[in-house]
This record gives sequence, structure tokens and C-alpha cells, in this order.
Amino acid sequence: MNHSTSAVDVQPLVFSNPSFKDHEQVVFCHDKESGLKAIIGVHSTVLGPALGGTRMWAYNNEAEALNDVLRLSRGMTFKAAISGLNLGGGKAVIIGDSRTQKTEAMMRAFGRMVDRLNGSYITAEDVGITTKDIEHVVKETKHVTGIPVEMGGSGDPSPVTAYGTYMGIKASAKYKWGSDNLEGRKVLVQGIGNVGITLVKHLTEAGMEVYIQDIHQDRIAMAVNEYGAKVYEGHYADADVDVYAPCALGATVNDESLDRFRCSIIAGAANNQLKDENIHGKALAERSILYAPDFLINAGGLINVYSEIAKYDRAESLRRTEKIYDTTLEIFTHAETKNITTHQAALEVAQARVDAAKASV
Ligand code: NAD
Repeated sequence: MNHSTSAVDVQPLVFSNPSFKDHEQVVFCHDKESGLKAIIGVHSTVLGPALGGTRMWAYNNEAEALNDVLRLSRGMTFKAAISGLNLGGGKAVIIGDSRTQKTEAMMRAFGRMVDRLNGSYITAEDVGITTKDIEHVVKETKHVTGIPVEMGGSGDPSPVTAYGTYMGIKASAKYKWGSDNLEGRKVLVQGIGNVGITLVKHLTEAGMEVYIQDIHQDRIAMAVNEYGAKVYEGHYADADVDVYAPCALGATVNDESLDRFRCSIIAGAANNQLKDENIHGKALAERSILYAPDFLINAGGLINVYSEIAKYDRAESLRRTEKIYDTTLEIFTHAETKNITTHQAALEVAQARVDAAKASV
């Protein structure tokens, strides 16, 4: 009997995964004692060390986790490039429920794994990871950002991400309606997490009618009590709003939601909002829905942690983040001129910077 593995037995895993897209390194991490199961994706180090946060999520299976980390780390390469930062792209995921399974031992084990990469990957917060967790990571490695302010770091990057996203929404309004005055316009913010709550604050202060959605009641209560936001119960795509701001997980622009959208603008902080960047980016354009590329308008947090690597300067970080407004307008114009989608336009500009850096070596 022949026991050799034939090609048909093998499921596409890493190199043949459609999301692999030329990653430099993918690291699978396991620590039996703490229960850590993590994957670190280093997509590119062409422009600098691969910096990207760690997400902790209860994935349904390992393939889902791998796909997520690959998509997220590639997005970081483009985010850094389009924001003019000397950083590459990387990301990590920890498999598990952040509310019930996270421990100090697990975060420290993860820190040791990051340390072994000798700075080619630098971590930070993402969904399910807080500055408290980073406090544990920092005990094991110096290759970490988003360190608490009390420990000399820049703290939680989320408020700056929210500010940049707000800049992106204003720029989208300017391009779509000729004015960035948001007063009286309606918005649905999906996901009232670290980013979502501050975005709700900015949009409320700008005079928008803010609707919210979250899977956790405590987060909904926070937005209602602090900012008077209204709870939206239906499917997010059915919401009769001017702006849909996805701030939970990715892929909410998909085959199922596409024809249901009633908004004019999609602009939010979530990574990888388009389930398929080619199909769904084009489909939005055909429906005259203006899409603000996620990796462009959610770069505030990255800009903020980048500043921590040298000497943290919050005012400078905020100034840089404000530039997202101008860059977003430039990308919209670039897309219109070349008759390509806004997502493609942003990718083109980012890729050109990476290619130029490669060519100069
Ligand atoms: P978070 O974990 O603090 O918040 C996510 C929120 O979304 C949670 O309140 C969660 O309950 C909610 N949620 C999850 N699934 C949902 C669903 N199906 N419907 C409605 N709500 C749902 O995360 P965060 O740091 O606020 O990040 C939000 C998004 O922005 C993520 O996609 C993240 O990758 C992206 N992002 C975050 C940063 C940052 O600085 N934190 C930077 C760039 C991009």
C-alpha cells in the first residue's frame, strides 16, 4: 500500500492559500502551559520592521485564523506605505476568547514568541487586546508598542485611529456632497469597541444623528449613556443612513450585503471591509457608494505607535493623522481620473512606494 501523500489529499494551507500573497514569513506559535495558540504573519519588511497589532478572537477553526492574519498583515504593508511611514506590514492573531481565555501567562508566552523574531515583527493592540495585556507582553520583549502611558509609551492607539477615521469620513463627505459639514447627516457605527466609542464621540460632536450596533450590551449602553446614540436593531446594510462606519470585524461588504446598502458612503475603522477587494470594491462603485479605503483612513493608530519607536510626540501624531483628510481626497481623485476603484487607487499608490524602495536597494 502506498502511504505517500498525494496532491489531492493536501488542502491548500499556507503557501497556496489565496491570502498568502507573497508573505515573507508566517510563524505558528504554541505554548502548552498557557494554552497559547497564535500565528504571526510578516508580509513585508521592505520599508522597515513589520508593525501590526495582535488580535485575539474565538475563530471557528485554524484555517479562519490563518486567513485572517494573512489578510491583516498584508493590509498593514499598504497602510504603512500610504501613510508615509518607514514600516513594513505584519500582524498576529491569538486563537481564543479574549473575555474568558486570556491570561498573563498566555500574553507573556506570546511576548517571548515575538521576541524570537528579533524586531522584524513589532506588536501592538488590536481587537481583543488592551494596554493591560501589552503590559504583560513588554515583560518579555522590547518589540512592542502601544505601551501604557504610565510606562512611558503612547498608550492605547484606538483614540487616534478613531480621529483618523473621522478625518476620512469628513473627506468622504466633502467629495460626495461638496461639503464636509456632517451636521444632520445620519451614520451607523457598527462595533462600539475601543475605536467605535471615540468615533461616536467625534461624530456626535459634529452634529450627526448617530446609530449604533454591537453584540455586547455593555458597549451599547456606554454609547447610549455617554453620547445619546440610538440603537439600531436590524441588518447593518438595511440601515437608512448616509454613512455606514464599520468598526467591528471585516468583510461586511459581501455578496449578501451588497444589494441591501442604502448609504452613500462606507467609511470606517474595521480592517478588510471588502470581503473580496476586487469584486466588492467594483460593485460599490457601480452602485455609486463611495468607499473610503479602510487601510488609509484607519491608519491613525499606526501613525501613533510609529511615533513611539523614536520619541513619542502626541501633537505630531495628531497632525500626521489629520493628513488622512487630504490623502483620502487625493485617492478619490486618483480613482476617478484613472477610472479605477478607490480601493485599487489606494493600493496602487501604496504599492508604488514599496516598489520604489525595493528598486533603490
Ligand atoms: P474592539 O475589540 O475594542 O471592538 C470591536 C467591537 O466590535 C466590540 O465591542 C465587539 O463587541 C463588536 N463586534 C464584534 N462583532 C460584531 C458584530 N457582528 N456586530 C456588531 N458589533 C460587533 O476593537 P477595536 O480596537 O475598536 O477595533 C475595531 C476595528 O478597527 C477592528 O476591525 C480593528 O482591526 C480595526 N482597527 C483598530 C485599530 C485600533 O487602533 N484599535 C486600528 C486600525 C484598525
